[in-house]
Amino acid sequence: MEAGAGDRKVVVVGGGVAGAMLAKHMQFDADVVLIDSKEYYEVPWARSRSMVEPPFAERSLIQHTDYLSNARVTASPAIDVTESEVLTAEGRAFAYDYLVIATGHVDSTPRSRKDRLEQFKQDNKRIRSSSSVLVIGGGRTGVELSAEIAADYPEKKVTLVHEGPRLLQILGPKASEKALRWLKSKGVDVLLGHSIDLDAISEGQQSFTTSAGATITADCHFVCAGRPLGSSWLQHTLLKDNLDRFGRLKVDENLRVRGRKNVFAIGDVVDLPEIKQGFSARKHAAVAAKNMKLLLRGGKEEKMAVYKPRSAAAAAPAVVSLGRRQAVAQFPFTTVSGYIPGLFKSKDLYVGWNRRKLGLETDII
Ligand SMILES: Cc1cc2nc3c(=O)[nH]c(=O)nc-3n(C[C@H](O)[C@H](O)[C@H](O)COP(=O)(O)OP(=O)(O)OC[C@H]3O[C@@H](n4cnc5c(N)ncnc54)[C@H](O)[C@@H]3O)c2cc1C
Repeated sequence: MEAGAGDRKVVVVGGGVAGAMLAKHMQFDADVVLIDSKEYYEVPWARSRSMVEPPFAERSLIQHTDYLSNARVTASPAIDVTESEVLTAEGRAFAYDYLVIATGHVDSTPRSRKDRLEQFKQDNKRIRSSSSVLVIGGGRTGVELSAEIAADYPEKKVTLVHEGPRLLQILGPKASEKALRWLKSKGVDVLLGHSIDLDAISEGQQSFTTSAGATITADCHFVCAGRPLGSSWLQHTLLKDNLDRFGRLKVDENLRVRGRKNVFAIGDVVDLPEIKQGFSARKHAAVAAKNMKLLLRGGKEEKMAVYKPRSAAAAAPAVVSLGRRQAVAQFPFTTVSGYIPGLFKSKDLYVGWNRRKLGLETDII
């Protein structure tokens, strides 16, 4: 650790948008350990592009050690928290003075970056070798993946099955409508109000029956539904009583877990009333880091920064990409789709911007 850095221990659990940023903010102010299930940070919304264009992932998968020059990284899921330590699945214990929970959502992605790159190549191979593709789940992931496949492989038959009454239920009905219209215009078959029993499907299966009795044939399928919150591991820990009925951690206005002086929680895993966005997760990280630095310096609790969730009327735009050039964007007072909102996100999917935020070059040289 460099001279001047504190010897107080900060443990960050979860190396997604929130945890990565928090660890970066804190690395020169404390002895920081980042515990993540994997060795790398992944720009979450770049996944679908990486499935149709695997080299895209070279920039969107970033080793944690590339942006954390003054922190320790351990790639193993956290499985327990006590008053003073975090335990990992590998059997290691990390003592903390301050703890940050940033476990967002859980994905079954490989531990190493190399294997994740290989996974994208395999996904791409499956898409290329299929003439029909089934996408299960019409949230952001399923819509963006269907759109990427429809845009890059217009000759393939894409079917999107969603159990809800409309796509993109996290956004308003106008966004759902515009996304649906766009997908249909590209020939995607969208089945709303249909579900597929995920426990009953297997790799290589080509015929699927939905809950409403429709039969779909597809050469390959991708499940884009049921990504759980990353908090089930907390259910038998010190923090079990701090979870709400949805499994979210209850936080106060300073982003500390309610009733806990030295435990913060940030990102998608918290119970704040706002759309779950990387944009907000990053703001949480900045506020929590500011507060922790204050406390580490012996500052007064009353001086801590307050995080105010943005109301729907003041929320940051939520943008869902529709292929490489178009998107649907929900602003507080309007929702638009087409090439103009596509300029915000769809070409680079904010990957260069994410890399800059982590102190890295936009491109790999
Ligand atoms: C398809 C899609 C498109 C999106 N587009 C946008 C967009 O355009 N703009 C935007 O602002 N937001 C967007 N979002 C939302 C954004 O991705 C999330 O809000 C953001 O990723 C939340 O960050 P997080 O760090 O809280 O959680 P995550 O990014 O989910 O990261 C959680 C991390 O914790 C790790 N973890 C989980 N459990 C454990 C454990 N027990 N031990 C150790 N590590 C653990 C995981 O491996 C992961 O690294 C999109 C989301 C999706 C799905």
